[in-house]
Amino acid sequence: KERPQTIGDAVSESCKIYGEKLAVVTEEESLSYRQLEELATIIAANLQMRGIKKGDRVAAVVGNSCEFPLLVIACAKIGAVMVPINVKLAVEELQYIIGNSKPSILISEQEFEDKVKKASEGVSGVAPENLFIIGGENTYEELLNKESHYEQITVNEEDNLFIIYTSGTTGQPKGAVLSHINVIHSLMNFKLGFETDDTFNTLIAVPMFHVTGLIGQLLHMFYVGGTAYSIRRYQNEEYIKRIIDNKINFLFNVPTIFIMMSTSEEFQKHSFDFVKKVAFGGSPIYQQTFTMLRKAFPNAQLHNAYGATETSSPATLMPVAYPDSKVTSVGLPVKVGEIKIVNAEGKECRTGEAGELYIKGPMIVKEYWENPVANHSDFTEGYWHSGDLGTKDEDGFIYIRDRKKDMINRAGEKIFSIEVEDVLKAHPDVVEAAVIGEPDPIFGEKIKAFVVGPELDGRDFTALKEHCKKSLAKFKIPEEFELIDSLPRNASGKILKNTLKNIGGKTNA
Ligand code: ATP
Repeated sequence: KERPQTIGDAVSESCKIYGEKLAVVTEEESLSYRQLEELATIIAANLQMRGIKKGDRVAAVVGNSCEFPLLVIACAKIGAVMVPINVKLAVEELQYIIGNSKPSILISEQEFEDKVKKASEGVSGVAPENLFIIGGENTYEELLNKESHYEQITVNEEDNLFIIYTSGTTGQPKGAVLSHINVIHSLMNFKLGFETDDTFNTLIAVPMFHVTGLIGQLLHMFYVGGTAYSIRRYQNEEYIKRIIDNKINFLFNVPTIFIMMSTSEEFQKHSFDFVKKVAFGGSPIYQQTFTMLRKAFPNAQLHNAYGATETSSPATLMPVAYPDSKVTSVGLPVKVGEIKIVNAEGKECRTGEAGELYIKGPMIVKEYWENPVANHSDFTEGYWHSGDLGTKDEDGFIYIRDRKKDMINRAGEKIFSIEVEDVLKAHPDVVEAAVIGEPDPIFGEKIKAFVVGPELDGRDFTALKEHCKKSLAKFKIPEEFELIDSLPRNASGKILKNTLKNIGGKTNA
């Protein structure tokens, strides 16, 4: 069967086949496939009526809700580019993304109204009449006006569908531009790799604004004709109750969620023999977490999935069957993908030799939005430079060993150290600052800051934390601080982060 060209086509096809079947069930409401198509078409018409054309950006600071998929599909239908923004970001961070992506319309929810309004009032902001708040005064309901006329237009596979911002090595986030064809290939990779079909349903506990929730679960379910359940915030009891009540058979999370879940009494009381598939990715998994999953889900295939926003989700997947000797691997490159491992000299590595993973294929984004510097440095000959260090074994299985990029992976949320260091250095009492990721049994890594400054009090870092709060989302604020006399550096002045990782002196939370 021929593959669909666009996400609009792919979803419409499922809507035709699955009509009254539930497509999405959130904490508040549910939509059948028929309703999904109908409402998305109404929103598409309203966006058109407001002058949104192909290529225009529609930004959304929206949590896991039915509105989220409706906006995705409405944008897909009219060739608009949706910019899903992390709801946890602080005003300054939002402002940067709004300034860079220049959306024509910004949609948010009452919960985030204050910060979104502040962020959109900047020089390059969004006009107040183009700011829609779900459930608020300037209501989103206007976008559901049934009187609008939907004009069908041609959207091509090369047209852009999303700009998703990821942390950047320069301290500013980079907007990865995902085209329809990137996302279609990603969905085909999931379907083929996981062997999913319309008998599957999932429960989304990770945010829909990141690729795992958005493509790996939400769009993946629409593509195969399954049902996507979702919750707004991960919480043990709610999550477990929904899995049991709805007999959820496909789980896909960052390892942190599985770790948290396994600690709950509720979890230990029940049998989960109906779960057919358990996938995990976004950050490395501890061996003991893997072992726990095996015991807790005796009938499930376990799949590690490695990828990034730039690979539109999976770049490697653990196949349905694999020998025990491979459990620490992230699997094989996806069918249409190619992975080259490159050493420090720029040469392709031998089997077992560690190097940076360069990834190629139709799921790789073409570019970052209006960012010529990163476009030049992060891509060569169609390969995206992942910044992850890994090896390939004799059977082609990939293993992630370390990171080249100076990034902290806290429960799947990525934080580039430089972003936090820049904020710390802007404090008048901080002379120098360096930030590292420290191993954490639940979050994988937590953020620790080393600061230098004669005026700083080594026992009380409240002022520094408050200072960080003004510019950074909560998940980026260091959980630990340590005052030191000077930062360790090599002969050329580069901060030795590995030395800092081994210092581990007296700390103050
Ligand atoms: P999401 O944004 O939905 O969490 P993601 O983690 O695939 O999805 P990014 O946030 O762009 O995407 O982060 C990509 C980085 O996450 C990779 O470069 C790698 O460092 C890390 N990562 C992703 N998957 C794995 C995995 N299975 N094992 C180890 N590290 C991973």
